[in-house]
Amino acid sequence: MKPFTVHILGSGSAIPTLHRNPSSQHLRVDTCCILIDCAEGTQLQLKRFNLSPMKIDHVLISHLHGDHYFGLIGLISSMHLAGRINPLFVYGPPALYDILTLQLALANTQLRYRLEFIPLQDKPFTSVFADDLLEIAAFKVKHRIPCWGFLVRQEADQRNIKKSFLSQYRLSHEELKAVKEGADYVNAQGEVIPNEQITCYTHPAGSYAYCTDTLYTPELSALLQNVTVLYHEATFMQMHEKEAAETYHSTGPQAARMAKNAGAKRLIIGHFSSRYKDLTPLLDEARLVFDQTEMATDGMCFQI
Ligand SMILES: [Zn+2]
Repeated sequence: MKPFTVHILGSGSAIPTLHRNPSSQHLRVDTCCILIDCAEGTQLQLKRFNLSPMKIDHVLISHLHGDHYFGLIGLISSMHLAGRINPLFVYGPPALYDILTLQLALANTQLRYRLEFIPLQDKPFTSVFADDLLEIAAFKVKHRIPCWGFLVRQEADQRNIKKSFLSQYRLSHEELKAVKEGADYVNAQGEVIPNEQITCYTHPAGSYAYCTDTLYTPELSALLQNVTVLYHEATFMQMHEKEAAETYHSTGPQAARMAKNAGAKRLIIGHFSSRYKDLTPLLDEARLVFDQTEMATDGMCFQI
């Protein structure tokens, strides 16, 4: 299976601290690189964790609060100065196009590469990009201003034929090709052996969902069924649940409930309020609901 790697570049919320930058994440699915959110300081985080900005193909911006996109114009400008030629696809709230256009116009900058802007739609779930490696979908979450989450799904590899089957039957080149493409096999006695019995994926295709910033929205779990890894904001502890609801954010246990109801294999929580000096109690109360919960840290890297 092709690599599917996630780097957390910023795991804090609105105010940067020395240990936690605001939101940004880097995904690599085979040769395709995706940046999700681009807070102030993201360029330095990319450098720190040895990730090339020039290789980023898609930038997904969840909403227009500064801790999710104030680093974007800097990144776009640096790509220009570094001689980028490849197009860059930016997905975000429609008004982001006006902001970027004004910033570039006032700086009298004509980008030497094509910046393709794709406005996110006011719909519960939309596929925004798909090729033979992956699919990217955007879904609406509930925040004080329009806000989207993202789901990145890796396409499955071709199925492989089981060794036990190959040693039992001698398949011609054409038969091998047909079975790999999904055909059933008919043996010399005319018996049909279903494809699912003779092939398997060496590694099942993975998926990654990013939910920030959002009020706890139970109905989202239906859209995220069986996601491999869920990243969900957990700005607050349970004792601040009222404040979480008032500011359209979530608590650790709410993030964990989402992971549980979606049938996720693993939950990563982040976007922590800088008021908590020790986050262990926040993690502990999330784990009481869903034990496969981990705390995001800047520089954390994992495979899907
Ligand atoms: Zn935020």
